Amino acid sequence: MTATRRLPTMLARVRNRSGRGLAAGQGGATVTAQDVVKSYGPIDALRGVSVTVPASEFLTITGPSGSGKSTLLNLIGSLDRPDAGTITVAGRAVPDPRHAVEFRRRLVGFVFQDYLLLPRLTAQGNIEAALLATSVGPRDRRRRSSELLAEVGLLDRAGHLPSELSGGQRQAVALARALANRPRVLLADEPTGALDSASAERALDLLATMRRRHGMTVVVVSHDATVAERADRVVRLVDGQVADEWKQTTPPRSRASALREAG
Ligand code: ADP
Repeated sequence: MTATRRLPTMLARVRNRSGRGLAAGQGGATVTAQDVVKSYGPIDALRGVSVTVPASEFLTITGPSGSGKSTLLNLIGSLDRPDAGTITVAGRAVPDPRHAVEFRRRLVGFVFQDYLLLPRLTAQGNIEAALLATSVGPRDRRRRSSELLAEVGLLDRAGHLPSELSGGQRQAVALARALANRPRVLLADEPTGALDSASAERALDLLATMRRRHGMTVVVVSHDATVAERADRVVRLVDGQVADEWKQTTPPRSRASALREAG
């Protein structure tokens, strides 16, 4: 049976077992950043940034290179700590990186431009690795990773190493891995940066599908206009400050087809 044909069966099995679909997690969490300041030596990466991301919103942070986008994303995910200001996720202050293991495991998932998959582990092994050191036992790790592989359309690549996958497939595995712990916020740094435009479109379609199904808040850093097109709202940083922001008003599907028609 192909992966595509197996997906409905697998999802039905999950629903039967748990009484609810895979989608039914805790839902998205609100993210707030208030007057956030961050410097690296003499470089002021963020100079008083305030942003609120309502639960389940898809926000794109855009702006020129060096404007502080990744710094802000890393602070939200507790990969680094701000010099001043407050960041909260689900109403809780983001903990110091030294004490953030539980926070990163339970609340946020990361996707990076260069995927950061473990090269010696298979696609399935990479997803299961995200569930190690949790209370999820080996059988459930296998089951959950299979479900996620099916959802991203890669069940038939479960045993492949990252080097045996295309860029788009690696990013799909990275997305599945980021969702393994059912995060309430997905943070993605230039997720289409290493992909050709067709693969980037597919990756964005997949991200949109997974967001619909899992209901998490999504914050994507990107200077790619097609990523901004998919978002509910766009915040543009310039020189470490919010320069402007706008809500997308056209439904994403119409925007995507308008773009295609425009060539
Ligand atoms: P963007 O993601 O918009 O390209 P970054 O947030 O990566 O911008 O960087 C903002 C500024 O902070 C840049 O000038 C960058 O060189 C600097 N910077 C970022 N991280 C570090 C770091 N770990 N050490 C020193 N400087 C850094």
